[in-house]
Amino acid sequence: MMAQFLTLKAQAPDCLLFYRMGDFFELFFEDAKAAAATLDIALTTRGEHLGQPVPMCGVPVHSHESYLARLIKGGHRVALAEQIETPEQARARGGSKTLVARGIVRIVTPGTLTEEVLLDARAANWLVAVAEVGGAIGLAAADISTGRFEIAAVPPVALEAELARLDAAEVVAPEGFAGTHRPLTTATGFDSAAAERRLKTLFQVATLDGWGEFGRAELAAAGGLLAYLDRAGQGSLPFLSPPVRRQASDHMMIDAATRESLEIVCSTGGSRKGSLLDAVDRTVTGAGARMLAGDLAAPLTDRATIDARLDLVGFIHDDGDLRARLRATLRALPDIGRALGRLAAGRGSPRDLAQLRDGLDQAFALHGALEATAHRPALLDRLQPALTGHGALIDRLQRALVPAPPIDAAQGGYIAEGYDPALDALRMRGGEGRRAIAALEAQYRAGTGVAQLKIRHNNVLGFHIEVPAKNADPLMRADSGFTHRQTLAGVVRFNAPELHEQATHVGQAGAHALAAEAAHLEELTALALADARAIAATADALARLDVAAGLAERAAEGGWCRPVLVDHPCLEVAEGRHPVVESAVAASGGRFVANDCRLGVDDRLWLVTGPNMGGKSTFLRQNAAILILAQAGAFVPAASATLGLCDRLFSRVGASDNLARGRSTFMVEMVETAAILAQATERSFVILDEVGRGTSTYDGLAIAWAVVEAVHDVNRCRCLFATHYHELTRLAERLDALSLRHVRAREWKGELVLLHEVAAGPADRSYGLAVARLAGLSPAVIGRAREVLKRLEAGRAATGGLAAGLDDLPLFAAAAQADEAKADPLRDALAAADADALTPREALELVYRLKALIAD
Ligand code: ATP
Repeated sequence: MMAQFLTLKAQAPDCLLFYRMGDFFELFFEDAKAAAATLDIALTTRGEHLGQPVPMCGVPVHSHESYLARLIKGGHRVALAEQIETPEQARARGGSKTLVARGIVRIVTPGTLTEEVLLDARAANWLVAVAEVGGAIGLAAADISTGRFEIAAVPPVALEAELARLDAAEVVAPEGFAGTHRPLTTATGFDSAAAERRLKTLFQVATLDGWGEFGRAELAAAGGLLAYLDRAGQGSLPFLSPPVRRQASDHMMIDAATRESLEIVCSTGGSRKGSLLDAVDRTVTGAGARMLAGDLAAPLTDRATIDARLDLVGFIHDDGDLRARLRATLRALPDIGRALGRLAAGRGSPRDLAQLRDGLDQAFALHGALEATAHRPALLDRLQPALTGHGALIDRLQRALVPAPPIDAAQGGYIAEGYDPALDALRMRGGEGRRAIAALEAQYRAGTGVAQLKIRHNNVLGFHIEVPAKNADPLMRADSGFTHRQTLAGVVRFNAPELHEQATHVGQAGAHALAAEAAHLEELTALALADARAIAATADALARLDVAAGLAERAAEGGWCRPVLVDHPCLEVAEGRHPVVESAVAASGGRFVANDCRLGVDDRLWLVTGPNMGGKSTFLRQNAAILILAQAGAFVPAASATLGLCDRLFSRVGASDNLARGRSTFMVEMVETAAILAQATERSFVILDEVGRGTSTYDGLAIAWAVVEAVHDVNRCRCLFATHYHELTRLAERLDALSLRHVRAREWKGELVLLHEVAAGPADRSYGLAVARLAGLSPAVIGRAREVLKRLEAGRAATGGLAAGLDDLPLFAAAAQADEAKADPLRDALAAADADALTPREALELVYRLKALIAD
């Protein structure tokens, strides 16, 4: 056995090996130690190997999935080694002592899960493969729990953003791939030519051109993905829909830092709660929730597609009855996408087939209900056909399966009566046998005079007769016709020839019936899988309807409006709100103050000042959230919104440490700022919150100043810039498209009142000390701070310091005279830099170089 174990272990050295022994999966050696530590279960020993006791631990087969879940979460990979023959087969092969053959049937990794208990019903589970060929990066992604499959060419700078968009459960790459900081699983099979052939055979097409023109890198990535899935399934590939070719420009580029700071699908704490998704999601199915998360993670850039989604939301929004009916039907829908995934992975159950039966049937009913509606949007017309077409399969499953079949097929009982006469006959025979056994019980009681006599069944003895020990004597007699089988504490068990005969009938009929049911299960599964693509399309159509109905519901609930998307870069929002902050404010009995935002070509940069806690960050984020929602095809929390399509969204909010990545707050801030300056275009939207606060006042102010100028002059994107540096407001005099806003506050009877209202002009003063007092800083400290402030301000006035003397500083003088100063090294260095070609690090270095230039 040890030899067999070691052979299997050698086939999957990077995995914990679950070695099947009877009702347990056992782990040995280092695997056992690692698993016992992660699972907090007992570590024992068994036998010896090379003179040492062998560490061992085990988990029961029937509950192994929950242990798997914890191991996978704990960063392990697991290989399942099952018995691949029966003990009888082993004996027939090599005699009574022969070890049952075992083989690895599956490798479980975070990206290759299909089990219901291991997956979040409301989140996709992406396995991503990346490859580089000749400087181009290809990405292939599959969610095998539903069969979704995407292939994309990704510009190297956008790779992190794409991985963040997919929130990949696992990223695989060839040895030596260096395009990302994420942990990678090294794999093989990234061969573009082989991949092309493989894709053609897999999808039975003569050419891949129908999906787009794939580059070598894309094909290589797809090849790596398929090879990895092959290995995980040990040769059996899960169901995959034909690949959807994505282009980076199809959706708004949102880098990982921006996603984090805007808390789009996941809050800073790492949970869904508190995220934008959570505040918007009113879907009623897992598939709908997964699709909505995907939509918000990848807002579209094509106006026609966005409008098509908005038309559908609007249609459902405007008809409250339809919305209610639609959502009621959807709520009852089983998750047919995931059921299909399990069936295709060979882990399907009778219940999965029943889910297909019920889900497809309800899709058909929905088709009928929607057909009658007038003024239908085009998207509905496109989804409609996918809801039907499964009549034959539904009919077959309805006839074949009992209404609520079990998950576990082992006990049978899932094939309906009347479906298969032979099965019915077997069941009848079994039933007759059981009735005969029941009759025997009465007969034996009468014959022996033991009223407590019972006929029982267990897995060891099968059918047997059981009497209390004190009544056993009449059955023990040699001529009684009973054979003694077992004596336990209180009872004695017997067999008898008639019982044996009937039991054999029942047993045989039962075994044959089970086999017949299993054959039906296999056939029905094959039948369903033959329809897999169409079923996946139905699941997608249902999810799209759920997303639209959920968004319509959310809009109706919150009085949200349909945004108008236009091509010119503007952002005109009337009475905008932040859905997450609004509900938090409402929960504590407050009222959220709606605010307008009007960015246009001539007024594209708003510099927002005002007290801490005044609502600057909220205002910045709400406008980013509105843009994301709109381009994802959702209504937005505002009275009206006209939005120019945005290609890239950037958010740099607050100074957050990222010690895990080994960078200081200021370094992170600068790296992200550099990325924004390098990548934002005239079609981008940027929110910058207190950039420059992570360093000394002069440095910080200088950087903030330079960043505002660059955003205004070079990037020319729409931008909201919140700052505590009041000195920056002087930029308004010089930068045409910059205007000043402030969040209003008032001091009333010595108390600070925050109005959360965005108004024109700069803040009249800073309220730092008032906020500090509000926060509970002691009067002594506040008093002292006031003194220091007074002195600082006096000093500043006397020396023409920080604010008054800005124009005298070399930096600002240079900036002010930039127009005349043709031979300006700063300008030259900037002009020489190719923003598109810069990596974030190079951009940062550039900032340092520029700084050095102005320090000279
Ligand atoms: P700081 O400068 O300290 O970062 P800030 O000006 O960015 O502060 P926010 O973080 O946006 O302030 O808001 C602080 C709190 O004020 C929010 O958590 C919320 O409770 C409340 N708030 C913000 N905006 C509004 C609003 N429009 N209506 C009502 N309450 C609001």
